Amino acid sequence: MQGYILCVQKQKNEDVIVRILTQTHIATLYRFYGARHPIVHIGRKIDFTKEYNGTFMPKLRNVVHLGFAWERDVTRLYVWQHFIELLHQHLRDISSLEEQYFSILDSSAKRLASQNPKRVVLEAYAQILHLEGRIPPLSHCLICDQLLESEPDHNALESLELGYLSSDTSASLQALQESREATLSTKLDHRAHTCPITPPQHIANIAVLRGFLSAHTACANAATLPYTKLESYLRTASTIDLDDEELERAYQVLLLGL
Ligand SMILES: [Zn+2]
Repeated sequence: MQGYILCVQKQKNEDVIVRILTQTHIATLYRFYGARHPIVHIGRKIDFTKEYNGTFMPKLRNVVHLGFAWERDVTRLYVWQHFIELLHQHLRDISSLEEQYFSILDSSAKRLASQNPKRVVLEAYAQILHLEGRIPPLSHCLICDQLLESEPDHNALESLELGYLSSDTSASLQALQESREATLSTKLDHRAHTCPITPPQHIANIAVLRGFLSAHTACANAATLPYTKLESYLRTASTIDLDDEELERAYQVLLLGL
């Protein structure tokens, strides 16, 4: 069986628990210390077998590293491993999954040989958003809930700021984002059966929050990207329209979490 190592969790006596994304599921396996050539590292593609022997967790056995030449390039390896960590967080409660996750990782790993690693992982992320049906609509401001093409709702902003004064800022923002995401998904479900969203083409820049959710630039202290370029990236899963500076800003948004 082949898979990509999502997580390596140290146990007592240098043993490790390893989570591996395969074509059909995420395997959680136990590996005893003692390998002469430790090859179990996050992000690596391996061939392996599971050994069931009645213990609490199957063992990881017969590991073969299916290496890529780019793994010797520290920058590429770092970007890849960081993306895999984010993906593991995103899939932490999942055991069975669609084959496309493996395909996306496999094609991305091959492209890392020659392409900018940040472009590769951003495009992989957009493919995952497509797979999960989570492409942000880029129609409303997540903070004030108005259309992006409308003016920000200052009353909403003021009440938010009062909320910040009385409680922990990051917790408030987190709670706000979660509640707005819930509302947004309800709206999206509704719209999917009614009409497509008309993109507000005249908007220049928008603020981009975790998950590439959108806000007015006046409403959020966040990275900004040109609307048309962000829309193109999310729709086509290609970063070709983003210049290097925009790519870096998009990458920082990706690092906030999948
Ligand atoms: Zn707003």
